[in-house]
Amino acid sequence: LQEQLVHASGMDAVGRVAGSLTHDFNNLLTIIAGSTSLAQQAAAGDDARRGYLHEIEMATTRARALTGQLLAVSRSGGRNLETLDASLVLRDLVPLMQRLAGPEVLIEVQLPAQHRVICVDRAHLEQLILNLVANARDALPQGGTISVRLDVEGTNVRISVCDDGCGMDPLTLERAREPFFTTKPRGKGTGLGLSTAHLLTEQYGGRLELESVVGEGTAVAVILPAEAPAPPTAPEVAGAMGPKAD
Ligand code: ADP
Repeated sequence: LQEQLVHASGMDAVGRVAGSLTHDFNNLLTIIAGSTSLAQQAAAGDDARRGYLHEIEMATTRARALTGQLLAVSRSGGRNLETLDASLVLRDLVPLMQRLAGPEVLIEVQLPAQHRVICVDRAHLEQLILNLVANARDALPQGGTISVRLDVEGTNVRISVCDDGCGMDPLTLERAREPFFTTKPRGKGTGLGLSTAHLLTEQYGGRLELESVVGEGTAVAVILPAEAPAPPTAPEVAGAMGPKAD
């Protein structure tokens, strides 16, 4: 599976260059953010100046959110591919999903009895799922339930994030994966959550499926190639049956 994912193409080179530029850009934004914060402290008592600096701060925060998403899809640092148990990744992510969703939203997680391994960069997978959970949360301004489930489908796993929120009209649904497409107020949406999720999923040989009905909710599914975990080797079996070392 790992070999299938490692292929050199022109797009990889473009991705690496874009990644290193994004990285430099992100460092510059960090400097702007730090200096703005210091300038705000120095401008205590001058409301007009503090107002301008607040605008700079908001724009910088938004620009850093953009570069963060771009860094996720770029290959500047190289992908750190690992063979991960999909169920365990989701289980470990529950506290972070709950924190992201806030106290008004219930996160329900359903994991299958069968275990499957996927070969991905853990940071990519986590970012992808958290992007979907953040969207589901935004669709539930009065609170509600986000259900996250994992299903085994032949040689794939399907990770679904479903909400019973506002849903999308057909035009929004059609455009939702476009980079920079957002229906959220200025300063709130980057329009990069779903396009990043889409790109990352495709990079791993998978696909992203969206279903949505206005007023009923949205289901976003990440389908990724997977394998059954390797059976334990003989020494491990012997070790597992013997007395524990610690
Ligand atoms: P952003 O969240 O920054 O707007 P995204 O690329 O993540 O950018 O999403 C694009 C648009 O797709 C959103 O602005 C929203 O209109 C729609 N969308 C995405 N997920 C959902 C969801 N779970 N429920 C309703 N609308 C959604």
